[in-house]
Amino acid sequence: MSCPRCGSREVMLTPVGEYVCKKCGHRWAMPSVDYTWIELDVKKAKLFEKYIDSPIESCEELLSLLLKELDEESARYLAAKILLQRAERRRMTPAELKKLYDNAESCFK
Ligand SMILES: [Zn+2]
Repeated sequence: MSCPRCGSREVMLTPVGEYVCKKCGHRWAMPSVDYTWIELDVKKAKLFEKYIDSPIESCEELLSLLLKELDEESARYLAAKILLQRAERRRMTPAELKKLYDNAESCFK
């Protein structure tokens, strides 16, 4: 971190979350960190755990539940991920797999 006014690296952080330049005395606010994407990732991971073992087979149904918590793009992606992950957890015949993959693909339509 360096002072945006004079470029000095002698900068200190005040207890109120402000930076103060020791050289020119310029003060500026600490850039706020955007945690939204982290929250979204945590939310997705929780939803994934919640629905991975659920008996819901239909993408439509799964999607309608996920859409209550996520935006559409994330919901579709997660629904497909859950359905495909289930396929890997179970021992399925190629025909069953095909059906499941088709179902998962329909999540994106
Ligand atoms: Zn300065």
